[in-house]
Amino acid sequence: MLYNPQNYKVADKPMEPFIDEQEIWDFIDSSKPDSHKVKDIIAKSLDKHRLTLEETATLINCTEPGLVEQIKEGAKTLKERIYSKRIVLFAPLYVGNLCINNCLYCGFRVSNTMQHRSTLTHDELVNQVIALEDKGQKRLILVFGEHPKYNPDFIYDAVKTVYQVKKGNGEIRRVNINAAPLDIDGFRRVKEAGIGTYQIFQETYHRGAYAQYHKKGPKQHYDWRLTALDRAQEAGIDDVGIGALVGLYDWRFETLGLIRHVNHFEAVYNVGPHTISFPRIQNASHLNIGKDYNVSNEDFTKMIAILRLAVPYTGMILTAREPAFVRDEILEFGVSQIDGGTNIEIKGYTKDEAEGQNLDKEQFQINDNRSLNEIINELVVKGMIPSFCTSCYRAGRTGEHFMEFSVPGFIKRFCQPNAILTFAEYLQDYAPEDTKIAGYALIEKEITEMEDASLKQKLVEKLEAVKTGKRDLYF
Ligand code: SAM
Ligand code: SF4
Repeated sequence: MLYNPQNYKVADKPMEPFIDEQEIWDFIDSSKPDSHKVKDIIAKSLDKHRLTLEETATLINCTEPGLVEQIKEGAKTLKERIYSKRIVLFAPLYVGNLCINNCLYCGFRVSNTMQHRSTLTHDELVNQVIALEDKGQKRLILVFGEHPKYNPDFIYDAVKTVYQVKKGNGEIRRVNINAAPLDIDGFRRVKEAGIGTYQIFQETYHRGAYAQYHKKGPKQHYDWRLTALDRAQEAGIDDVGIGALVGLYDWRFETLGLIRHVNHFEAVYNVGPHTISFPRIQNASHLNIGKDYNVSNEDFTKMIAILRLAVPYTGMILTAREPAFVRDEILEFGVSQIDGGTNIEIKGYTKDEAEGQNLDKEQFQINDNRSLNEIINELVVKGMIPSFCTSCYRAGRTGEHFMEFSVPGFIKRFCQPNAILTFAEYLQDYAPEDTKIAGYALIEKEITEMEDASLKQKLVEKLEAVKTGKRDLYF
Protein backbone atom coordinates (compact mmCIF):
# COMPACT_ATOMS: atom_id res chain seq x y z
CA MET A 1 0.00 0.00 0.00
CA LEU A 2 2.87 2.35 0.71
CA TYR A 3 4.30 4.40 -2.09
CA ASN A 4 7.93 3.59 -1.62
CA PRO A 5 9.66 4.07 -4.92
CA GLN A 6 12.40 1.59 -5.49
CA ASN A 7 14.82 4.20 -6.75
CA TYR A 8 14.68 6.10 -3.44
CA LYS A 9 15.11 2.85 -1.55
CA VAL A 10 18.31 2.27 -3.47
CA ALA A 11 19.52 5.85 -3.73
CA ASP A 12 18.77 7.17 -0.26
CA LYS A 13 21.25 6.49 2.50
CA PRO A 14 20.83 7.19 6.21
CA MET A 15 22.15 10.58 7.27
CA GLU A 16 22.94 11.64 3.73
CA PRO A 17 21.26 14.55 1.92
CA PHE A 18 18.53 13.49 -0.46
CA ILE A 19 17.04 16.60 -2.06
CA ASP A 20 17.61 16.75 -5.81
CA GLU A 21 16.49 20.22 -6.88
CA GLN A 22 16.46 19.40 -10.55
CA GLU A 23 14.22 16.41 -9.95
CA ILE A 24 11.74 18.60 -8.07
CA TRP A 25 11.73 21.31 -10.73
CA ASP A 26 11.37 18.73 -13.49
CA PHE A 27 8.22 17.41 -11.85
CA ILE A 28 6.82 20.91 -11.43
CA ASP A 29 7.67 21.88 -15.00
CA SER A 30 6.42 18.73 -16.67
CA SER A 31 3.25 17.74 -14.80
CA LYS A 32 0.25 19.09 -16.64
CA PRO A 33 -3.16 18.78 -15.03
CA ASP A 34 -6.37 17.91 -16.80
CA SER A 35 -9.66 17.08 -15.15
CA HIS A 36 -9.40 13.31 -15.78
CA LYS A 37 -5.92 13.10 -14.36
CA VAL A 38 -6.84 15.15 -11.31
CA LYS A 39 -9.88 12.99 -10.67
CA ASP A 40 -7.77 9.82 -10.89
CA ILE A 41 -5.13 11.21 -8.55
CA ILE A 42 -7.73 12.21 -5.95
CA ALA A 43 -9.39 8.79 -6.29
CA LYS A 44 -6.02 7.12 -5.68
CA SER A 45 -5.57 9.06 -2.46
CA LEU A 46 -9.14 8.32 -1.33
CA ASP A 47 -8.30 4.70 -1.99
CA LYS A 48 -5.62 5.06 0.70
CA HIS A 49 -2.57 5.25 -1.52
CA ARG A 50 0.24 7.76 -1.20
CA LEU A 51 0.82 10.06 -4.14
CA THR A 52 4.06 10.19 -6.09
CA LEU A 53 6.03 13.41 -6.51
CA GLU A 54 4.75 13.60 -10.06
CA GLU A 55 1.10 13.25 -9.03
CA THR A 56 1.59 15.81 -6.28
CA ALA A 57 3.12 18.18 -8.82
CA THR A 58 0.09 17.69 -11.06
CA LEU A 59 -2.17 18.84 -8.23
CA ILE A 60 0.16 21.75 -7.49
CA ASN A 61 -0.14 22.90 -11.09
CA CYS A 62 -3.94 23.09 -10.95
CA THR A 63 -4.93 26.73 -11.12
CA GLU A 64 -8.33 26.46 -12.75
CA PRO A 65 -10.85 27.19 -9.93
CA GLY A 66 -12.93 24.08 -10.67
CA LEU A 67 -9.90 21.80 -10.29
CA VAL A 68 -8.72 23.55 -7.12
CA GLU A 69 -12.20 23.05 -5.69
CA GLN A 70 -12.00 19.35 -6.53
CA ILE A 71 -8.71 19.10 -4.64
CA LYS A 72 -10.19 20.79 -1.58
CA GLU A 73 -13.29 18.62 -1.75
CA GLY A 74 -11.07 15.55 -2.07
CA ALA A 75 -9.15 16.50 1.09
CA LYS A 76 -12.44 17.08 2.94
CA THR A 77 -13.79 13.72 1.81
CA LEU A 78 -10.60 11.98 2.87
CA LYS A 79 -10.87 13.52 6.29
CA GLU A 80 -14.53 12.62 6.70
CA ARG A 81 -14.15 9.10 5.35
CA ILE A 82 -11.01 8.09 7.15
CA TYR A 83 -10.47 10.25 10.19
CA SER A 84 -13.33 10.71 12.59
CA LYS A 85 -14.51 14.09 13.77
CA ARG A 86 -11.90 14.85 16.38
CA ILE A 87 -8.99 17.19 16.76
CA VAL A 88 -6.03 16.92 19.11
CA LEU A 89 -5.19 20.00 21.16
CA PHE A 90 -1.81 21.08 22.51
CA ALA A 91 0.05 24.19 23.66
CA PRO A 92 3.56 25.47 22.89
CA LEU A 93 5.73 26.43 25.84
CA TYR A 94 8.78 28.57 25.11
CA VAL A 95 11.58 27.65 27.52
CA GLY A 96 14.26 30.06 26.34
CA ASN A 97 14.97 32.52 23.55
CA LEU A 98 18.76 32.76 23.67
CA CYS A 99 20.02 32.08 20.16
CA ILE A 100 23.34 32.07 18.35
CA ASN A 101 21.84 31.87 14.86
CA ASN A 102 20.65 34.73 12.75
CA CYS A 103 17.67 33.38 10.81
CA LEU A 104 16.51 36.53 9.08
CA TYR A 105 12.80 35.77 9.58
CA CYS A 106 12.93 35.15 13.33
CA GLY A 107 12.51 37.58 16.23
CA PHE A 108 15.08 35.59 18.22
CA ARG A 109 17.89 36.09 15.67
CA VAL A 110 21.14 37.04 17.36
CA SER A 111 21.38 40.42 15.59
CA ASN A 112 18.01 41.52 17.00
CA THR A 113 19.16 43.51 20.02
CA MET A 114 15.59 44.64 20.74
CA GLN A 115 14.55 41.13 21.77
CA HIS A 116 14.22 40.60 25.54
CA ARG A 117 16.27 37.47 26.23
CA SER A 118 15.61 35.02 29.00
CA THR A 119 15.43 31.36 29.95
CA LEU A 120 12.90 29.93 32.37
CA THR A 121 14.38 28.93 35.71
CA HIS A 122 13.23 25.65 37.21
CA ASP A 123 10.59 27.43 39.33
CA GLU A 124 9.42 29.57 36.44
CA LEU A 125 9.04 26.49 34.28
CA VAL A 126 6.99 24.83 37.02
CA ASN A 127 4.76 27.92 37.24
CA GLN A 128 4.15 27.96 33.49
CA VAL A 129 3.21 24.29 33.55
CA ILE A 130 0.84 24.81 36.47
CA ALA A 131 -0.84 27.66 34.57
CA LEU A 132 -1.22 25.39 31.53
CA GLU A 133 -2.55 22.49 33.58
CA ASP A 134 -5.05 24.85 35.22
CA LYS A 135 -6.51 25.53 31.78
CA GLY A 136 -6.81 21.81 31.04
CA GLN A 137 -3.80 21.25 28.79
CA LYS A 138 -2.34 17.73 28.68
CA ARG A 139 0.06 17.93 25.73
CA LEU A 140 2.88 20.46 25.36
CA ILE A 141 5.59 21.22 22.89
CA LEU A 142 8.67 22.76 24.49
CA VAL A 143 10.40 25.29 22.25
CA PHE A 144 14.02 26.47 22.49
CA GLY A 145 16.32 28.84 20.61
CA GLU A 146 19.66 27.37 19.58
CA HIS A 147 22.27 28.04 22.23
CA PRO A 148 25.01 26.06 24.04
CA LYS A 149 22.96 26.45 27.23
CA TYR A 150 20.13 24.41 25.68
CA ASN A 151 22.20 21.23 25.46
CA PRO A 152 20.72 17.72 25.65
CA ASP A 153 21.01 17.60 29.46
CA PHE A 154 19.20 20.92 29.73
CA ILE A 155 16.38 19.72 27.46
CA TYR A 156 16.27 16.42 29.37
CA ASP A 157 15.89 18.26 32.70
CA ALA A 158 13.17 20.53 31.30
CA VAL A 159 11.15 17.55 30.04
CA LYS A 160 11.52 15.68 33.33
CA THR A 161 10.44 18.78 35.26
CA VAL A 162 7.34 19.20 33.13
CA TYR A 163 6.27 15.59 33.65
CA GLN A 164 6.68 15.95 37.42
CA VAL A 165 4.38 18.98 37.79
CA LYS A 166 0.95 17.81 38.97
CA LYS A 167 -1.78 20.01 40.32
CA GLY A 168 -5.16 18.59 41.26
CA ASN A 169 -6.11 16.41 38.32
CA GLY A 170 -3.71 18.38 36.16
CA GLU A 171 -0.73 16.69 34.55
CA ILE A 172 1.15 16.87 31.29
CA ARG A 173 1.05 13.47 29.63
CA ARG A 174 3.06 14.13 26.51
CA VAL A 175 5.98 16.50 25.99
CA ASN A 176 7.09 17.13 22.41
CA ILE A 177 10.18 19.13 21.49
CA ASN A 178 11.03 21.79 18.91
CA ALA A 179 14.71 22.57 19.27
CA ALA A 180 17.97 22.63 17.36
CA PRO A 181 19.36 19.54 15.64
CA LEU A 182 21.50 17.35 17.92
CA ASP A 183 24.08 14.66 17.33
CA ILE A 184 23.08 11.03 17.86
CA ASP A 185 24.21 10.96 21.51
CA GLY A 186 22.30 14.17 22.15
CA PHE A 187 19.11 12.72 20.70
CA ARG A 188 19.64 9.58 22.82
CA ARG A 189 19.87 11.67 25.96
CA VAL A 190 16.71 13.61 25.17
CA LYS A 191 14.86 10.42 24.32
CA GLU A 192 15.63 9.11 27.83
CA ALA A 193 13.43 11.85 29.26
CA GLY A 194 10.41 10.26 27.58
CA ILE A 195 9.71 12.77 24.84
CA GLY A 196 6.93 12.39 22.30
CA THR A 197 7.76 13.93 18.91
CA TYR A 198 11.02 15.73 18.08
CA GLN A 199 10.23 18.44 15.55
CA ILE A 200 12.77 20.14 13.32
CA PHE A 201 11.67 22.24 10.38
CA GLN A 202 13.97 22.45 7.38
CA GLU A 203 12.58 25.98 6.85
CA THR A 204 13.35 25.80 3.13
CA TYR A 205 14.40 22.74 1.14
CA HIS A 206 16.07 24.98 -1.45
CA ARG A 207 19.78 25.15 -0.77
CA GLY A 208 20.33 28.60 -2.32
CA ALA A 209 17.41 30.20 -0.50
CA TYR A 210 18.49 28.46 2.72
CA ALA A 211 21.94 30.04 2.42
CA GLN A 212 20.40 33.51 2.05
CA TYR A 213 18.41 33.29 5.26
CA HIS A 214 20.96 31.46 7.41
CA LYS A 215 24.34 33.09 7.22
CA LYS A 216 25.53 32.73 10.81
CA GLY A 217 25.80 30.09 13.45
CA PRO A 218 25.33 26.32 13.29
CA LYS A 219 22.07 26.64 11.39
CA GLN A 220 23.92 27.79 8.26
CA HIS A 221 24.74 24.12 7.59
CA TYR A 222 21.88 22.93 5.38
CA ASP A 223 22.95 19.28 5.37
CA TRP A 224 23.32 19.04 9.15
CA ARG A 225 19.74 20.22 9.45
CA LEU A 226 18.37 18.13 6.60
CA THR A 227 19.78 14.96 8.13
CA ALA A 228 18.94 15.88 11.74
CA LEU A 229 15.89 13.67 12.04
CA ASP A 230 17.84 10.78 10.52
CA ARG A 231 20.16 11.10 13.53
CA ALA A 232 17.10 11.16 15.76
CA GLN A 233 16.01 7.89 14.14
CA GLU A 234 19.49 6.42 14.64
CA ALA A 235 19.13 7.36 18.31
CA GLY A 236 15.85 5.49 18.51
CA ILE A 237 13.46 8.43 18.19
CA ASP A 238 11.09 7.16 15.51
CA ASP A 239 8.52 9.84 16.25
CA VAL A 240 9.68 12.89 14.34
CA GLY A 241 8.03 15.97 12.86
CA ILE A 242 9.12 17.75 9.68
CA GLY A 243 8.14 21.17 8.39
CA ALA A 244 8.80 23.99 5.96
CA LEU A 245 8.50 27.68 6.78
CA VAL A 246 6.09 28.78 4.11
CA GLY A 247 7.08 32.06 2.47
CA LEU A 248 10.86 31.66 2.31
CA TYR A 249 10.85 30.16 -1.17
CA ASP A 250 8.42 28.96 -3.84
CA TRP A 251 5.65 27.03 -2.01
CA ARG A 252 5.40 24.52 -4.86
CA PHE A 253 9.04 23.54 -4.36
CA GLU A 254 8.60 23.31 -0.57
CA THR A 255 5.55 21.08 -0.96
CA LEU A 256 7.52 18.59 -3.03
CA GLY A 257 10.48 18.99 -0.64
CA LEU A 258 8.25 17.86 2.22
CA ILE A 259 6.98 14.88 0.24
CA ARG A 260 10.54 13.98 -0.74
CA HIS A 261 11.48 14.09 2.95
CA VAL A 262 8.65 11.63 3.67
CA ASN A 263 9.91 9.39 0.85
CA HIS A 264 13.39 9.49 2.36
CA PHE A 265 12.20 8.33 5.78
CA GLU A 266 10.13 5.57 4.25
CA ALA A 267 12.99 4.46 2.01
CA VAL A 268 15.60 4.44 4.76
CA TYR A 269 13.72 3.83 8.02
CA ASN A 270 10.51 2.28 6.76
CA VAL A 271 8.44 4.76 8.73
CA GLY A 272 7.16 8.17 7.68
CA PRO A 273 7.32 11.23 9.91
CA HIS A 274 4.67 11.47 12.59
CA THR A 275 3.69 15.00 11.63
CA ILE A 276 4.12 17.64 8.98
CA SER A 277 4.00 21.34 9.88
CA PHE A 278 3.63 24.25 7.51
CA PRO A 279 4.20 27.40 9.57
CA ARG A 280 3.64 30.46 7.40
CA ILE A 281 5.89 33.49 7.95
CA GLN A 282 4.37 36.04 10.31
CA ASN A 283 5.51 39.43 11.38
CA ALA A 284 8.28 39.38 13.98
CA SER A 285 10.29 41.85 15.98
CA HIS A 286 11.98 44.33 13.56
CA LEU A 287 11.50 41.94 10.70
CA ASN A 288 12.84 43.02 7.35
CA ILE A 289 12.74 40.27 4.78
CA GLY A 290 11.51 40.29 1.20
CA LYS A 291 7.94 39.46 0.30
CA ASP A 292 8.77 37.75 -3.02
CA TYR A 293 7.59 34.36 -1.81
CA ASN A 294 4.64 35.45 0.32
CA VAL A 295 1.89 32.87 0.01
CA SER A 296 -1.73 33.97 -0.32
CA ASN A 297 -4.49 32.37 1.76
CA GLU A 298 -5.73 30.84 -1.47
CA ASP A 299 -2.44 29.08 -2.26
CA PHE A 300 -1.86 28.19 1.39
CA THR A 301 -5.18 26.38 1.74
CA LYS A 302 -4.60 24.65 -1.59
CA MET A 303 -1.12 23.57 -0.46
CA ILE A 304 -2.52 21.97 2.68
CA ALA A 305 -5.31 20.19 0.83
CA ILE A 306 -2.64 18.80 -1.54
CA LEU A 307 -0.45 17.64 1.35
CA ARG A 308 -3.45 15.88 2.90
CA LEU A 309 -4.04 13.96 -0.31
CA ALA A 310 -0.34 13.29 -0.97
CA VAL A 311 0.46 11.78 2.45
CA PRO A 312 -2.96 10.71 3.70
CA TYR A 313 -1.64 8.95 6.81
CA THR A 314 0.63 11.63 8.23
CA GLY A 315 -0.50 13.91 11.06
CA MET A 316 -0.76 17.57 10.12
CA ILE A 317 -0.28 20.47 12.54
CA LEU A 318 -1.73 23.94 12.13
CA THR A 319 -0.73 26.57 14.68
CA ALA A 320 -2.07 29.84 16.03
CA ARG A 321 0.22 31.69 13.65
CA GLU A 322 -2.83 31.61 11.37
CA PRO A 323 -5.93 33.71 12.04
CA ALA A 324 -9.09 31.92 13.17
CA PHE A 325 -10.83 32.12 9.78
CA VAL A 326 -7.91 30.44 7.98
CA ARG A 327 -7.66 27.80 10.69
CA ASP A 328 -11.37 27.11 10.49
CA GLU A 329 -11.26 26.48 6.75
CA ILE A 330 -8.12 24.35 6.89
CA LEU A 331 -9.41 22.23 9.78
CA GLU A 332 -11.79 20.68 7.30
CA PHE A 333 -8.92 19.38 5.15
CA GLY A 334 -7.76 16.90 7.73
CA VAL A 335 -5.49 18.81 10.06
CA SER A 336 -5.06 16.55 13.07
CA GLN A 337 -3.59 18.87 15.71
CA ILE A 338 -3.99 22.52 16.62
CA ASP A 339 -2.77 24.59 19.53
CA GLY A 340 -5.21 26.46 21.74
CA GLY A 341 -4.85 29.20 24.34
CA THR A 342 -1.42 29.87 22.85
CA ASN A 343 1.03 32.36 24.31
CA ILE A 344 4.60 32.26 23.01
CA GLU A 345 6.13 34.88 25.28
CA ILE A 346 8.61 33.57 27.85
CA LYS A 347 6.54 33.39 31.08
CA GLY A 348 3.54 34.27 28.90
CA TYR A 349 1.08 31.89 30.55
CA THR A 350 1.30 33.71 33.89
CA LYS A 351 1.25 37.26 32.58
CA ASP A 352 -1.68 39.64 32.82
CA GLU A 353 -3.73 38.93 29.67
CA ALA A 354 -4.61 42.64 29.33
CA GLU A 355 -0.94 43.35 28.48
CA GLY A 356 -1.36 41.99 24.93
CA GLN A 357 1.39 40.92 22.57
CA ASN A 358 4.81 42.54 22.48
CA LEU A 359 6.82 41.37 19.48
CA ASP A 360 10.10 42.22 21.22
CA LYS A 361 9.31 39.46 23.67
CA GLU A 362 8.19 36.87 21.14
CA GLN A 363 9.48 34.90 18.20
CA PHE A 364 6.73 36.04 15.85
CA GLN A 365 3.17 37.29 15.86
CA ILE A 366 0.31 35.02 16.88
CA ASN A 367 -2.92 35.66 15.00
CA ASP A 368 -5.32 33.36 16.78
CA ASN A 369 -5.59 34.59 20.35
CA ARG A 370 -8.60 32.51 21.33
CA SER A 371 -8.44 30.81 24.71
CA LEU A 372 -8.40 27.03 24.91
CA ASN A 373 -12.01 27.05 26.04
CA GLU A 374 -13.11 29.32 23.19
CA ILE A 375 -11.49 26.98 20.69
CA ILE A 376 -13.14 24.01 22.35
CA ASN A 377 -16.54 25.71 22.17
CA GLU A 378 -16.09 26.27 18.47
CA LEU A 379 -14.99 22.70 17.81
CA VAL A 380 -18.08 21.48 19.64
CA VAL A 381 -20.32 23.69 17.49
CA LYS A 382 -18.70 22.06 14.44
CA GLY A 383 -19.43 18.63 15.91
CA MET A 384 -15.73 17.85 16.44
CA ILE A 385 -14.52 16.16 19.61
CA PRO A 386 -11.60 18.03 21.19
CA SER A 387 -9.05 15.39 22.16
CA PHE A 388 -6.20 15.42 24.67
CA CYS A 389 -5.52 11.78 23.99
CA THR A 390 -2.01 10.44 24.63
CA SER A 391 -2.95 6.80 24.95
CA CYS A 392 -1.02 5.30 22.02
CA TYR A 393 2.16 6.95 23.19
CA ARG A 394 1.70 5.71 26.74
CA ALA A 395 0.51 2.25 25.71
CA GLY A 396 3.63 1.93 23.54
CA ARG A 397 1.64 1.99 20.30
CA THR A 398 3.97 4.05 18.13
CA GLY A 399 3.10 5.23 14.67
CA GLU A 400 -0.47 5.86 15.67
CA HIS A 401 -1.23 8.07 12.72
CA PHE A 402 -0.30 5.29 10.41
CA MET A 403 -2.40 2.83 12.41
CA GLU A 404 -5.35 5.20 12.45
CA PHE A 405 -5.18 5.23 8.74
CA SER A 406 -4.36 1.69 7.85
CA VAL A 407 -5.66 -0.60 10.59
CA PRO A 408 -9.34 -1.20 9.89
CA GLY A 409 -11.50 -0.03 12.78
CA PHE A 410 -8.57 1.47 14.73
CA ILE A 411 -10.15 4.92 14.93
CA LYS A 412 -13.47 3.53 16.10
CA ARG A 413 -11.85 1.22 18.65
CA PHE A 414 -9.23 3.56 20.08
CA CYS A 415 -9.11 7.15 18.85
CA GLN A 416 -12.74 8.17 19.10
CA PRO A 417 -13.47 6.63 22.54
CA ASN A 418 -10.17 7.96 23.91
CA ALA A 419 -10.90 11.42 22.52
CA ILE A 420 -14.28 11.29 24.26
CA LEU A 421 -12.75 10.20 27.58
CA THR A 422 -10.13 12.95 27.58
CA PHE A 423 -12.74 15.51 26.55
CA ALA A 424 -14.96 14.37 29.44
CA GLU A 425 -12.03 14.89 31.82
CA TYR A 426 -11.75 18.43 30.51
CA LEU A 427 -15.48 19.01 30.93
CA GLN A 428 -15.39 17.73 34.51
CA ASP A 429 -12.29 19.60 35.64
CA TYR A 430 -11.94 22.81 33.65
CA ALA A 431 -14.99 23.71 31.56
CA PRO A 432 -17.45 26.47 32.38
CA GLU A 433 -21.07 25.30 32.70
CA ASP A 434 -22.16 26.19 29.14
CA THR A 435 -19.23 24.29 27.61
CA LYS A 436 -19.99 21.35 29.87
CA ILE A 437 -23.61 21.18 28.72
CA ALA A 438 -22.77 21.49 25.03
CA GLY A 439 -19.82 19.10 25.39
CA TYR A 440 -21.78 16.33 27.03
CA ALA A 441 -24.55 16.76 24.44
CA LEU A 442 -21.97 16.09 21.72
CA ILE A 443 -20.60 13.10 23.62
CA GLU A 444 -24.14 11.69 23.94
CA LYS A 445 -24.64 12.06 20.21
CA GLU A 446 -21.35 10.30 19.46
CA ILE A 447 -22.25 7.44 21.79
CA THR A 448 -25.67 7.03 20.22
CA GLU A 449 -24.02 6.67 16.82
CA MET A 450 -21.57 3.99 17.98
CA GLU A 451 -22.21 0.64 16.31
CA ASP A 452 -20.22 -1.74 18.50
CA ALA A 453 -22.51 -2.45 21.47
CA SER A 454 -19.82 -3.94 23.67
CA LEU A 455 -17.42 -1.05 23.09
CA LYS A 456 -20.27 1.38 23.69
CA GLN A 457 -21.00 -0.28 27.05
CA LYS A 458 -17.35 -0.15 28.09
CA LEU A 459 -17.12 3.51 27.11
CA VAL A 460 -20.26 4.41 29.05
CA GLU A 461 -18.82 2.68 32.13
CA LYS A 462 -15.52 4.54 31.77
CA LEU A 463 -17.39 7.83 31.33
CA GLU A 464 -19.31 7.20 34.54
CA ALA A 465 -15.99 6.54 36.27
CA VAL A 466 -14.66 9.87 34.96
CA LYS A 467 -17.73 11.60 36.39
CA THR A 468 -17.02 10.08 39.78
CA GLY A 469 -13.44 11.31 39.78
CA LYS A 470 -11.40 8.57 38.05
CA ARG A 471 -8.82 9.94 35.62
CA ASP A 472 -6.55 8.75 32.83
CA LEU A 473 -8.76 5.93 31.60
CA TYR A 474 -8.19 4.82 28.05
CA PHE A 475 -8.55 2.00 25.57
N1 SAM B 1 15.51 27.35 17.31
C1 SAM B 1 15.03 26.08 16.89
C2 SAM B 1 15.20 25.91 15.41
O1 SAM B 1 15.43 26.91 14.73
O2 SAM B 1 15.09 24.79 14.96
C3 SAM B 1 13.61 25.98 17.27
C4 SAM B 1 12.70 26.44 16.28
S1 SAM B 1 11.87 27.93 16.34
C5 SAM B 1 11.82 28.35 17.99
C6 SAM B 1 10.32 27.26 15.76
C7 SAM B 1 10.02 27.51 14.32
O3 SAM B 1 9.35 28.75 14.20
C8 SAM B 1 11.16 27.65 13.34
O4 SAM B 1 11.68 26.40 12.97
C9 SAM B 1 10.53 28.40 12.19
O5 SAM B 1 10.02 27.51 11.21
C10 SAM B 1 9.35 29.11 12.84
N2 SAM B 1 9.47 30.57 12.71
C11 SAM B 1 10.56 31.33 12.91
N3 SAM B 1 10.27 32.63 12.61
C12 SAM B 1 8.99 32.69 12.22
C13 SAM B 1 8.14 33.74 11.76
N4 SAM B 1 8.54 34.98 11.64
N5 SAM B 1 6.86 33.41 11.45
C14 SAM B 1 6.41 32.14 11.55
N6 SAM B 1 7.18 31.12 11.97
C15 SAM B 1 8.47 31.38 12.29
FE1 SF4 C 1 17.22 30.91 16.57
FE2 SF4 C 1 15.44 29.03 15.81
FE3 SF4 C 1 14.90 31.66 15.61
FE4 SF4 C 1 16.68 30.62 14.02
S1 SF4 C 1 14.46 30.06 14.09
S2 SF4 C 1 16.94 32.57 15.13
S3 SF4 C 1 17.61 29.12 15.32
S4 SF4 C 1 15.19 30.50 17.47
